Amino acid sequence: MKKIGFIGGMSWESTQLYYKLINQKIREALGGFHSARCVIESVEFSEIHALQTVNDWNRLNEKMVEAATNLKNAKADVILICANTMHLCSEAITQNVDLPLIHIAEATGKEIQKSNLTKVLLLGTKFTMERDFFINILKSQFGIEAIIPVATDRDKVHDIIYKELVQGKIEDASRKTYVHIIEKAVQEGAQGVILGCTEIPLLISPNDVSIPTFNTTEIHAESAVEFALTTTVVN
Ligand code: GLU
Repeated sequence: MKKIGFIGGMSWESTQLYYKLINQKIREALGGFHSARCVIESVEFSEIHALQTVNDWNRLNEKMVEAATNLKNAKADVILICANTMHLCSEAITQNVDLPLIHIAEATGKEIQKSNLTKVLLLGTKFTMERDFFINILKSQFGIEAIIPVATDRDKVHDIIYKELVQGKIEDASRKTYVHIIEKAVQEGAQGVILGCTEIPLLISPNDVSIPTFNTTEIHAESAVEFALTTTVVN
């Protein structure tokens, strides 16, 4: 079994989901006492958040490369960034650290393709919704169109992530806000919704909405397990 390296702590509320999911999936696959081989490099999220707020992506790139290097030194075979937003640093990581990286948008695109959907709503932080890294991968590699909410709704989605979800606060009123935004997108032709922030699955479950949900935390964890169980790494 290969060793999975996680860059976590962004936030730890979702990193714990990753940890549980990969171990559950390894047990489902192998049974008995089996569990995942993994190492988590967990960052101090307040430092990351402060740099995001001032858009200091150079420094964020440096921090992510440092975290990935630590994982390489800890003998990880693959890197996962346990957040959608911080995939803005994925190129810096792949350019500087010689390990495969499982990109969350690629893993999600593959999963959506299995359902034959062509138009989906993307929810996440404003970085994820408004920068093009996620949307471009879906379009160029999978031919999937991702739409995003209007500006006022993007503000609400973003604020709920940072003021509540990353701090472990799960509010009914916020769930209703998300459901309302998702159902508006259904009217515009969205056939599915990407929960494109790794904490959103703490708030929204498939039963809350009328279209299929694509839980990026679970999809990403599943890809890691597949890698760990099937890839042969030549060291
Ligand atoms: N976990 C988050 C995401 O998936 C948001 C927190 C952050 O990394 O800024 O985008």
